[in-house]
Amino acid sequence: MARALWLPAVLRSAGLTVHEQPGWRDRGSSSFDPYGIIVHATAGRLSIESDIRVLLQGSTTAPPPIAQLFLARTGEWWVIASGRCNHARTGRAGNMAGFGNSGLIGIEAANDNRGEPWPDVQYRSYVRGVAAICDYVDAGASKRRWSTNRISGHKEHQPGEKTDPTFSMGQFRADVAAVLAGDSTPIPSTPGRKRHTMEYLWVILRSGKPVWAVERPHLRLSDPAMGWEEFTDEGQAKGIATLNGYSNQFLTETQWAARKAAYQTAAA
Ligand SMILES: [Zn+2]
Repeated sequence: MARALWLPAVLRSAGLTVHEQPGWRDRGSSSFDPYGIIVHATAGRLSIESDIRVLLQGSTTAPPPIAQLFLARTGEWWVIASGRCNHARTGRAGNMAGFGNSGLIGIEAANDNRGEPWPDVQYRSYVRGVAAICDYVDAGASKRRWSTNRISGHKEHQPGEKTDPTFSMGQFRADVAAVLAGDSTPIPSTPGRKRHTMEYLWVILRSGKPVWAVERPHLRLSDPAMGWEEFTDEGQAKGIATLNGYSNQFLTETQWAARKAAYQTAAA
């Protein structure tokens, strides 16, 4: 494995809101072979834009890019880089002792690291995002299923040197494990409303009017006709798509036609 080009899709599959920072695919060194995850906090009170700028431009202590992922206080994720970044030293302790940046995915979450409460929406998003990374299914369709002993807090990784994050890493790993345990329940065979993974909500401008398209690639496999649905009513589309989150992104009519054509191919 080299670049972690799967990051946005994997996070979205967990129902999380994910933004892709332009250039993320080529950012960071390609000598990257992720083996574990380091949980960080930014130790600041900057705006989202300023936090991202630091990750892109580096700080006084770390050259850019600093980390692959940024998690805002809103619970939204930004993918900053797909390659090796500069968020940690070689670990002296903890689950990832002996590992350095070439083997570690870094997640920088916005928090002042001085007792600022973690908003519930952000903490739960952190847990779900890390669980999704642990649960990632690779291109060969083999289930990777990292256990939570691939997760370390920066304060555990560099004790005496770092104090982030402020929450209990033991509790965090337990919360991730609980999500992973829930995820092991089989996907219901009846298509529809119970469990959706990899669901997208696209907005298409058609004759100047928005059309909301819900795309469900996983249902295409059992019933191609269920793979997508279009709505002229935003609330109706979101009522369906919010079952497991969505990406509210624009597609051109041509791009959408190409995606629909893929379903027809699958049906044939
Ligand atoms: Zn850190």
